[in-house]
Amino acid sequence: MRDQILKQARRIVVKIGSSLVASRGSGLRADRIDRLADEIAAVKQTGCEVLMVSSGAIISGIQKLGLKAYPKSLPEKQAAAAVGQSRLMWAYEKAFERLGQKVAQILLTHQDLSDRRRFLNARHTLTTLIDFGVIPIINENDTVAVEEIRFGDNDSLAGDVAHLVDADLLIILSDVDGLFTEDPRKNPAATLIPLVTDITKDIERRAGASSSFEGTGGMATKIRAAQKVADYGVATLLLNGDTPGLLPAVFAGAAAGTFFLPHGRRLTSRKHWIAFTLRAKGHVTVDDGAMEALVRRGKSLLASGVLTVSGTFDSGDAVSCCDRQGKEFAKGLVNVSSDTLTRIKGLKTAEIRKAIGLQEYEEVIHRDNLVIL
Ligand code: GLU
Repeated sequence: MRDQILKQARRIVVKIGSSLVASRGSGLRADRIDRLADEIAAVKQTGCEVLMVSSGAIISGIQKLGLKAYPKSLPEKQAAAAVGQSRLMWAYEKAFERLGQKVAQILLTHQDLSDRRRFLNARHTLTTLIDFGVIPIINENDTVAVEEIRFGDNDSLAGDVAHLVDADLLIILSDVDGLFTEDPRKNPAATLIPLVTDITKDIERRAGASSSFEGTGGMATKIRAAQKVADYGVATLLLNGDTPGLLPAVFAGAAAGTFFLPHGRRLTSRKHWIAFTLRAKGHVTVDDGAMEALVRRGKSLLASGVLTVSGTFDSGDAVSCCDRQGKEFAKGLVNVSSDTLTRIKGLKTAEIRKAIGLQEYEEVIHRDNLVIL
């Protein structure tokens, strides 16, 4: 399965971690960037379409600004990112120019992807660049991304980009070999897990134990990104970007890294966007009958099945649906605000009409806008 996916992957997102391309003391590692450019261009030469998500702006900026420590405040991080991003792109420009390969800079915030129109615009730009034979190099738009519109880490960004462009494979390059049974620095008996078929609680625990990176994410965000894209039907490969030649070797059949198989179900792009890109503004708990109707019979959510409403949302916002125990089992776009829903929860259609008049939609969440998780 792994070999088949690698062989058949046409569109690939390659995420490059900060520590591979920059260090706080000496800034960008031009030799490393050149080598990664060689290897990525070689993969593209085999007929794949490649998009890159590269970190390294903040670390490169820290060195250029001569800061003593990793900045703590958001504005300082943003300043470092602004200074570092242009350097980072300049290094990639030079590295790929040697190979006659054009690149483009794309900076995104989470907000760009949570608005459906902007999501589609970004998708058109990226696919047009690919049609032109260009490699888009994406980073978070760190200079404008305040907390509530941030991805926060580039593993999540790369996962969302894989979804944005309908990629077949996400490759996360970092400075470790993959996911281990334990933290390999603490326990020399730890072994690499070559294949993950399902991200279980056990895998999450191991990811926590082997979190040993310099970048923002650590192993936990990598596992989360892998899980997200697996649900969308996309495979993830964690690979050591420090090992020269490993990336092309993997495409030639070499065994390395940790490979996460996708799940069978491939959600439509729109449903995936609802499930994974949008952030829930609130949640509703529903009764057992409503839950069964949503999960087993593919029905829409009606006000009569809603028990409690929490959070503040407007019609069109994403809201989580939870069972009586508070466990989230679905997510969807609501047709009513939290205020209205609080007034009509538990009521039947005729009662709703009596209470607040005729409503535009009968459903609280229409099944077309609902994803079972
Ligand atoms: N966007 C940040 C940068 O370029 C990196 C975030 C991360 O490490 O995941 O420095």
